[in-house]
Amino acid sequence: MLATADALAILLDAARAIDGIETLPTLDALNRVLATDVTSPLDVPPMHTSAMDGYAVRIADLAHGSRLPVSQRIPAGHAPAPLAPNSAARIFTGATVPAGADAVVMQEQTEVAGDEVTIVHRPQAGEWITAQGADIRAGSVILPAGTRLTPQALGLAASVGCAQLAVRRRVKVAVFFTGDELTMPGEPLKPGAIYNSNRFTLRGLLEKLGCDVTDYGIVVDQLDATRATLREAAEAHDLILTCGGVSVGEEDHVKPAVEAEGRLSMWQIAMKPGKPLAFGAVRRGAVGTAETFFIGLPGNPVSSFVTFLLFVRPFVLRLAGVQAVAPRALSLRADFTQGKADRRNEFLRARVNAAGGLELFANQSSAVLTSTVWGDGLIDNPPNHAISAGETVRFIPFSELLN
Ligand code: AMP
Ligand code: MG
Repeated sequence: MLATADALAILLDAARAIDGIETLPTLDALNRVLATDVTSPLDVPPMHTSAMDGYAVRIADLAHGSRLPVSQRIPAGHAPAPLAPNSAARIFTGATVPAGADAVVMQEQTEVAGDEVTIVHRPQAGEWITAQGADIRAGSVILPAGTRLTPQALGLAASVGCAQLAVRRRVKVAVFFTGDELTMPGEPLKPGAIYNSNRFTLRGLLEKLGCDVTDYGIVVDQLDATRATLREAAEAHDLILTCGGVSVGEEDHVKPAVEAEGRLSMWQIAMKPGKPLAFGAVRRGAVGTAETFFIGLPGNPVSSFVTFLLFVRPFVLRLAGVQAVAPRALSLRADFTQGKADRRNEFLRARVNAAGGLELFANQSSAVLTSTVWGDGLIDNPPNHAISAGETVRFIPFSELLN
């Protein structure tokens, strides 16, 4: 059996960022992956600005007495004249600090009488002034290639005047499901049938990652049908993802179909839930050299969910050009005891309680999808390790795994 970390290492080693870059308006680039560094052409802020409504002063002038004539009024968006000697300038938040001024006194620390202002405070040099370039220096890389564009990253790009961004095209993923027992919600459930819940979970997971998804639905458990779907899907996608049919049962036709159309490694990963995972590639075209990656997930709903989060997510992100794909884990206290150690690396569905500790979902079966909705994340419990209450465990929040 393969260790979880080794399986991930093999996958990430194979993943290469896809070709294909497009230029999008910055406003339309949310959740995309930057293809090139964004370098700032300017300082931000581009000039010294006031961080308060108040009076711009020259500190040396305050020694002459704190009462000063108001020599100019500077709203935001206007270029001021240099500060006249022995005077104060009325100034507003975001406005340019006039040359010669070295502090802003907030209006609460002044008294105004006619055209004069009394400064009842001795400011420090630079007080309430945001220096030119305090946020960003001209020429610095503000967003490196491989960054996933969050709302705040778009804001940062816009703050240096970027109207367009070079991003990678979306990763194209084909997905299909095997199993004659699978029925779509909306159809009556015949004896022996179950609903195809994984279609909803996996499509949602792929869409959350920003993939361009082609969903072939349910493919009947027959070799020819499975091979035909693989051939078609290989042509226009970067990855084919399937669910079910990768265990050793005779009804499973995914394995021989991928072997016939490409190459396949069947992995037994020492993890729970999960275990079987298939990784390989399907040839493109009749004699083509190009290939489309293939990943086959186990059919059990919790197994496919967890193996997606741990393996498919980082693999897809690497295809998308993202470098940092590891979820950030927390160290949290276990408020439960799990007396029985397992030979495998367990990923336990748990949630954070009001005391900041972790509680475990009672039924950790790989068929019980309820645990994935109840939980806030996964405890990554190493092989052969029982958990005692009070112990610190490694917890990977779903918030890290679902974005
Ligand atoms: P398999 O990996 O095909 O052997 O399936 C393992 C278990 O997962 C079986 O109980 C299947 O009925 C179930 N299963 C497989 N595919 C799905 C699916 N798309 N949605 C829900 N359950 C599934
Ligand atoms: Mg099956």
